[in-house]
Amino acid sequence: MRFAHIVVAASLFAAGSAMAGPCDLEIESTDAMKFSKDSLSVPASCKKVTVKLVHTGKLPKASMGHNWVLAKAADMQAVATDGIPAGADKNYLKPGDTRVLAATKLIGGGESDTVSFDATKLKVGEAYNFFCSFPGHIGLMKGTFAVTK
Ligand code: ZN
Repeated sequence: MRFAHIVVAASLFAAGSAMAGPCDLEIESTDAMKFSKDSLSVPASCKKVTVKLVHTGKLPKASMGHNWVLAKAADMQAVATDGIPAGADKNYLKPGDTRVLAATKLIGGGESDTVSFDATKLKVGEAYNFFCSFPGHIGLMKGTFAVTK
């Protein structure tokens, strides 16, 4: 009976969605056109992943806007290229682009945005990248995203 109590306690703990855990990520972006991390990972046990993007700079969205976009590594460059003509109003992403696995909106200095997405479609061992789709930023603003066992 003692073991059963421990199991109940553990599942209550896991159900606490408001608590930060391995499925809740945060990354900062700056006026120097940089992300604070060049790699992110989540365990495969995450059903939902939440990423909070914070812009710690002061420059406005029009000149130093950032977003956080997730795509397969093989799709990243094409997603960025196709997003440029969409413009800032569409967060520099082609509307309906199914290669985009998750994306925050485009934000300026002092702002933040959070995206939550279904992580059950992500695969262990698949190469994913995150990047900023603001024109010209992908060269410096990108990193790897992995799902770990
Ligand atoms: Zn950017």
